[in-house]
Amino acid sequence: MKINASAKHKIFIYLFYVSMSCALTIFLNIIHNSYVLNIELTIASFIIPTFAGLLFGLMLARMKALSTQLRDIAYTDSLTQIYNRLHFAHFLDAEIDKTKRYGGTFSIIFFDLDNFKSINDTYGHPVGDEVLEKVTSIVSKANRNPDIFARYGGEEFIILTPETDLSGAFIHAERLRSDIEKYEFNAVGHVTSSFGVTEFDPGKDSVETVLERADKALYMAKEFGRNRVEKV
Ligand code: GH3
Ligand code: MG
Ligand code: MG
Repeated sequence: MKINASAKHKIFIYLFYVSMSCALTIFLNIIHNSYVLNIELTIASFIIPTFAGLLFGLMLARMKALSTQLRDIAYTDSLTQIYNRLHFAHFLDAEIDKTKRYGGTFSIIFFDLDNFKSINDTYGHPVGDEVLEKVTSIVSKANRNPDIFARYGGEEFIILTPETDLSGAFIHAERLRSDIEKYEFNAVGHVTSSFGVTEFDPGKDSVETVLERADKALYMAKEFGRNRVEKV
């Protein structure tokens, strides 16, 4: 029989309650100098552990909620509320393991906003932040459910597209580039972005090589004039 975490907690609390009750019954009867079971003491010894057990259960639930909250903070980018680079690395590791073991494929889309420094310099950092938030929402809307989207750092973003080959990822990146370019941002107007796309090769690739290739493709997109998608 498989026992889940919450059932384990309940069993643990129940055992804690029963052992506390027994211990308290014995203890109260001993300090009362009575070796015959005293009914009031016995009732008290069951009520007190009930509250103790309840309190303990509440504390456990609160601790569980806090640890989930802490994990979310550690894995989420505070400005855009998407995954951060650390959490992306976990997904990438898992996807590589899965692809090497079971086959299939996936691609990486790496993108960077063009001339973003000049947006900050012209309109100020808070407006730059708004652009980053809006870009995140444009891309999130266009992504498919299984896609893993993260802020890689500064104005760089990364997407892991499961079960997608190079041509499929290129089409998706081209759509994202166009969606960003078409949007009219408050004050700033139009913003462009450059994309690098690559497909994972299970025979040759590691985390490092697949990321290096995506970065190289992005670098080429910048070199060839920005606001474009390059695949390697
Ligand atoms: P390129 O087209 O070559 O990418 O040029 P760029 O100006 O976008 O690139 P550069 O690396 O020179 O500048 C990136 C800028 O992004 C500089 C940095 O201040 C800004 N930036 C990084 N993180 C944030 C952030 O969280 N908020 C804001 N507003 N700006 C940020
Ligand atoms: Mg940039
Ligand atoms: Mg950059």
